[in-house]
Amino acid sequence: MQLVASLMAGLTLLAGTPSEPAARAGEPRFEAATKPIKGAVRKQITGSSWRRGCPVPRRKLRLIRATHWDFHRDVEMGRLIVHRQEAGKMTRALRELFRARFPIRRMELIDRYGADDHRSMNADNTSAFNCRFVAGTSRWSEHAFGRAIDVNPIENPYVTPSGHVSPPAGRPYADRSRNAEGMIHHGDKAWDAFRGVGWKWGGDWSGTKDYQHFSSTGR
Ligand SMILES: [Zn+2]
Repeated sequence: MQLVASLMAGLTLLAGTPSEPAARAGEPRFEAATKPIKGAVRKQITGSSWRRGCPVPRRKLRLIRATHWDFHRDVEMGRLIVHRQEAGKMTRALRELFRARFPIRRMELIDRYGADDHRSMNADNTSAFNCRFVAGTSRWSEHAFGRAIDVNPIENPYVTPSGHVSPPAGRPYADRSRNAEGMIHHGDKAWDAFRGVGWKWGGDWSGTKDYQHFSSTGR
C-alpha cells in the first residue's frame, strides 16, 4: 500500500512537469509590473537619460520593475525603461531569464550612472533605454528608442575585429569559448529568451560583436 502511495505521488509529480517544474514551497516567483514614466522617475530621467530632442517622448516610455536572479543565487528587484510597444515582450523575455535562473549582476536605471554608458558598463549594469548616439557617431542608438537592452556588459562585452573590447573589464570574456556565469551564447537560454520575442542578438553580427546587446530591430 505504501509502495502504491509513493508511486502515485511520483506520478502526480511527473504529471506536473511537462514544461516546468512544479512550484515548490518558498520558491521565488517571477514578479513584474509596468508603469508610465511619472513622478520621481520622470524627474530622475529628465536631463539625464532623456532630454528634449530625443526621438521618443516620455509618454511613450515605460518603467518595468521585475525580479531577476543575481550572481549569488539571490532574487533581486531590478528596473528597466523601454518603449511601450516593447514592454510586453521585454517582460516575457525577463520571465524566461528568471525561469532559466540566468544571473544578472544588477539592473538599475542608467541614470544611476549619470546616463553614462561607460560607467554603467563598468558596473556590469544591465540597462535598456538611454537617449544617446551610437558610440563615435551622431546616429541615434537603438537604446534611444527604448528597443535595445545590454545584458551583463562585462561578461558580454563589445568586441571589434581589431580586438578593441568595451568595457575594459570585459577583456577576459572576449574569449567566447569560455562558459562563465552570466555569459550569453548563441542558442542558449538567455539567447532564446530574447529570440522568443523576436529580438536579435549583437553576438550574431558579423565583424563587430556586441555580445551584451539585443534589439527588436537587429541593429
Ligand atoms: Zn546595446
